[in-house]
Amino acid sequence: MEGGLTVDNISPKKEQSKKPRILIVGGVAGGASCAARARRLSEDAEIIVFERGPFVSFANCGLPYYVGNVITHEKSLLVATPELFSKRFNIEVKVHSEVLAIDREKRELKVKNLLTGEVSAEIYDALVLAPGSAPIKPPLPGIDLPGIFTLRTIPDSNRMKDWIINKNVKRAVVVGGGFIGLETAENLVKRGLSVTIIEMLPQIMPPIDPEMAVPLQEHLKANGVTLHLGDSVAKFELGQSTDNLVVTTKTEMKFECEMALLAVGVRPEVSLAKQAGLEIGVLGGIRVTNQMRTSDENIWAVGDAVEVRDFITGDWSLIPLAGPANRQGRIAADVILGRDSSFRGVQGTMVCKVFNNTVAATGVSEKTLLRLKSNGKEIPYEKVYLHPGQHAAYYPGAKSITMKVIYSSEDGKILGAQAVGEDGVEKRIDVIAMAIQKHSTVYDLEEAELCYAPQFGTAKDPVNFAGMVAANALRGDSPVAHWANVNESGMYILDVREPSEFNAGHFEGSANIPLPTLREKMNSLPREKEILVYCGVGQRSYYAVRILRLNGFDARNISGGMTTYQSQKQVHRI
Ligand SMILES: Cc1cc2nc3c(=O)[nH]c(=O)nc-3n(C[C@H](O)[C@H](O)[C@H](O)COP(=O)(O)OP(=O)(O)OC[C@H]3O[C@@H](n4cnc5c(N)ncnc54)[C@H](O)[C@@H]3O)c2cc1C
Repeated sequence: MEGGLTVDNISPKKEQSKKPRILIVGGVAGGASCAARARRLSEDAEIIVFERGPFVSFANCGLPYYVGNVITHEKSLLVATPELFSKRFNIEVKVHSEVLAIDREKRELKVKNLLTGEVSAEIYDALVLAPGSAPIKPPLPGIDLPGIFTLRTIPDSNRMKDWIINKNVKRAVVVGGGFIGLETAENLVKRGLSVTIIEMLPQIMPPIDPEMAVPLQEHLKANGVTLHLGDSVAKFELGQSTDNLVVTTKTEMKFECEMALLAVGVRPEVSLAKQAGLEIGVLGGIRVTNQMRTSDENIWAVGDAVEVRDFITGDWSLIPLAGPANRQGRIAADVILGRDSSFRGVQGTMVCKVFNNTVAATGVSEKTLLRLKSNGKEIPYEKVYLHPGQHAAYYPGAKSITMKVIYSSEDGKILGAQAVGEDGVEKRIDVIAMAIQKHSTVYDLEEAELCYAPQFGTAKDPVNFAGMVAANALRGDSPVAHWANVNESGMYILDVREPSEFNAGHFEGSANIPLPTLREKMNSLPREKEILVYCGVGQRSYYAVRILRLNGFDARNISGGMTTYQSQKQVHRI
């Protein structure tokens, strides 16, 4: 244990009462969780939360839906109020109160009341920093023009809503295709705006791999969103009418609009921590131990502001998500009050709704593994793609989920998973997220016993399927190949779909032997070549690979079949 301050062992400073004083900077996800947990562990502690904004514990995750009028009342965003904190938890919340400085020597904060301008001093025994992060505003020409917004707080969203109405906005540019950009784009479309997303990377939703973003990109386009990928904004200018903005990109493309949202990421709020001389990590977040303690033993830090270890790679990581912030707040309170809790690290488990699609991911992506490899830290991996139904095909409303599961090619330990589809996506990723946390393998996914009734899944759930496909590959029963390999020389590409499917579109140079005729026609296949087999999604080709391998052929299954090919060909040169 790292020697947490306990109510008994805390040594209050002379000038204060006997009650240990826990001061918390920031009253939303991490700060509010920390405060409430601290109270549940101690009736004696004096707990005060300082929040510079007008609200405490508000739902920032709901802001895009408030902009889109899906959430109609501002007060629905208020998860708790200062009154509730006071009455229910005996916690004092001071809103409009900005903490300006920390004096570590005196264990004292300088706090400014933003309504009166008055500055006061507050002494602490334990201090928790939960200041969150700030939207990145790149220093581009015109960045401060009216009509350019960032979305972090309720006042930010009210400003956007007012602008849309007052300026009769018809066109918006969203800069950044991450989850805040995508969610807000959807909500602006729902308000009748014509929306363009400009994203610097060649894909949207940067945490997932590019081929997994393709179906989402298609879905956005199908919903009327214009995507401009692989280019970044160079400047903002006023248009001919001063109510118009012109957004110019590095490639000289111009997009006219009446409003723009900057959603290009967030930066940890570390100004207080820096002023206090606390250690800042390589990625610019506050450096903490796994007990959320900073380099000062009386100061803890949680949430978007901190750097924590990646659960899979062990590297430092910045993951600005609400789940880790809440859990870290709770852990900091535990440790302050003498419990031996510790944070396991982040997996980056995320989910986002994009019109009728859901995208979710957990663990590492393939691009992260490739980056690590190029930096000399190779984690040997294999991947499988599959497209199972979210529930039994015979039950109305069946839809497929596109899944990618990445696992250690040495022992099958699961490293990451991504999924996109209309329904049942996050359930599968949540199951795999938990499996990753328990260091499980694809063999465990094969065996997982999950809920089943036809409305909800299949008797072999997509999670079981993923495990089976990967385990079949690892056991050598059905080794996988990938579309990126098909151009390698000396390979024979076999399509085992029906002729009608083959004729409607196939991989150039492939031969067609439909699965039902494979046994009688297999003698026409070359024995000296490796045979890569595909079908629509990888299932019939799996049966074919088994037939061929049992008959002495060297055959592999092209993972995900033609469905995966459609996405892969947009990303790789196949
Ligand atoms: C639009 C939007 C949508 C999101 N959607 C999701 C989602 O769907 N899922 C998800 O997991 N995450 C989502 N997030 C991210 C999530 O909200 C954050 O990761 C989480 O709120 C971080 O918690 P935190 O406590 O670190 O910081 P915050 O919740 O941002 O709280 C920090 C607070 O500290 C206050 N503060 C800062 N400095 C001071 C100071 N010096 N004195 C006093 N107060 C100070 C700030 O005013 C702020 O209110 C979303 C974020 C946004 C903006």
